[in-house]
Amino acid sequence: MPQHDVVVIGAGPGGYVAAIRAAQNGLNVACVEVEGALGGTCLRVGCIPSKALLESSELYRMARDHFAQHGIETGGVQVDLSKMLARKDQIVTGLTKGIEGLFKKNKVTRYKGLGKITGPNTVVVEGTESIELQAKSIVIATGSKSAPLRGVEVDGDLIGTSTEALSFPAVPGHLVVIGAGVIGLELGCVWARLGAKVTVLEYLPRILPGMDTEIATEAQKILTKQGLEFRLGSRVTSAKVVDGKCVVECDGAEPITCDRVLLAVGRLPNVDGLGLDAAGVKLDERGRVAVDDHFRTNIPGIYAIGDVIAGPMLAHKAEEEGVAVADILTGRYAHVNYDAIPGVVYTEPEIATVGKSEDQLKQAEIPYRKGIFPFMANGRAKALAHTEGRVKVLAHAETDRVLGVHIIGPRAGDMIAEAAVAIEFGASAEDIARSSHAHPTLAECIKEAALAVDGRAIHF
Ligand code: FAD
Ligand code: NAD
Repeated sequence: MPQHDVVVIGAGPGGYVAAIRAAQNGLNVACVEVEGALGGTCLRVGCIPSKALLESSELYRMARDHFAQHGIETGGVQVDLSKMLARKDQIVTGLTKGIEGLFKKNKVTRYKGLGKITGPNTVVVEGTESIELQAKSIVIATGSKSAPLRGVEVDGDLIGTSTEALSFPAVPGHLVVIGAGVIGLELGCVWARLGAKVTVLEYLPRILPGMDTEIATEAQKILTKQGLEFRLGSRVTSAKVVDGKCVVECDGAEPITCDRVLLAVGRLPNVDGLGLDAAGVKLDERGRVAVDDHFRTNIPGIYAIGDVIAGPMLAHKAEEEGVAVADILTGRYAHVNYDAIPGVVYTEPEIATVGKSEDQLKQAEIPYRKGIFPFMANGRAKALAHTEGRVKVLAHAETDRVLGVHIIGPRAGDMIAEAAVAIEFGASAEDIARSSHAHPTLAECIKEAALAVDGRAIHF
């Protein structure tokens, strides 16, 4: 029976990073993955293919609608969808193969098949044949899957999840998106830019629940201008295919007939078939694997990380936990600072956030001051012709410590890194305001918003 110090189940950003880090730490590591390609949801059907399509579709939109303002005349601009999808697939293949290479380089043994925990130190891999592995420690990193919605008959074609929406064979005439969360907005934008009519049905009276309300409200205005139709307060009761068309029903509204439906109402932890019941591993009230601060389950030797445990379902959160658990398994100290994990929505403009929202500070009655700086007043944003949006810095009213930074604007996803570092280092708004930011850059908006916390923005 093969013996390993650590067996990681799942090769997504949580699992593959944990495996590589544990191997770098000198442990004998195996990783079990049921899919042929490594990299998990993120690399295969999540972050990477969606960003490839967001990039291509935005370039098309720019060429079609915005190049002329730069004095560039293009004539008619056409989409070659099959080429666009092939480019996306090529990026996915390159990156998933890259993880294979990293496993070889770091001597991580890969087993292909479904991993099942049969005891505190044993995992059975059910693949073309069945192999039992002996492990001193087991790390569950099995990720998540799309949540179903009662009445919505997902057929994996006309009514599908994000996976189908990453590969529609033609631009739908009318796409209905159920859920105005991150997936709904990102993939809704892709198909709207390529020419689809997109209707987003959202149960709540707002989009992007959990995100700072001021920023989410601005996002809704901008995306509406780009052609997305939002119907808020819409509770979807059914969606089915009738005579080759999709019919979507909502409480108190006329049914909508459309060409395709994207169901994006959240994701659920992947715990089925893992043998958790038999192993006695406890789940929390929402069906996620319950862990303590050190990613330990209630069964000694069994750990869990990533989307399958509590916390934001984000690739970089899973990666941080992967590094931390590998270090803990090596006897080192490690922890993850959940206050400094950024979140980015890759619409155009991008929306990026880290730390506490204004709503959270109000609710917790934490005294704060806020500084806002609009991209309209930034030279680089003007040069780019991307002047929509703003940066908001929230700092403690007494200590000036940065508590949250929220950005809607060009390249917000890259800019938020500075704010995450500031929060990680316990910086004050004045620390950011006193740091030199190159001119002319979009990052100057963060410095100016930090100055604005004290009412001293220079350029606004
Ligand atoms: P996963 O990536 O889900 O990996 C788990 C792996 O475990 C899978 O490969 C699965 O096949 C395997 N597995 C499951 N059960 C077993 C078993 N019993 N035996 C063997 N293998 C098993 N996050 C971001 O941070 N940025 C983004 O831009 C972003 N975009 C996204 C876009 C979409 C469309 C989606 C769906 C998600 C996106 N996410 C994004 C979320 C991100 O993909 C997840 O947070 C991340 O992949 C979680 O990593 P993980 O390792 O926990 O799980
Ligand atoms: P989400 O939780 O972000 O949004 C789901 C939305 O569906 C919510 O607004 C919710 O109110 C709505 N909803 C729920 N039930 C509904 C109903 N019956 N009718 C209408 N609306 C309903 O979930 P998601 O967009 O599916 O994304 C899943 C996860 O994937 C997220 O947690 C996110 O972190 C991750 N993800 C991240 C990125 C990124 O980081 N850029 C991109 C995609 C996905």
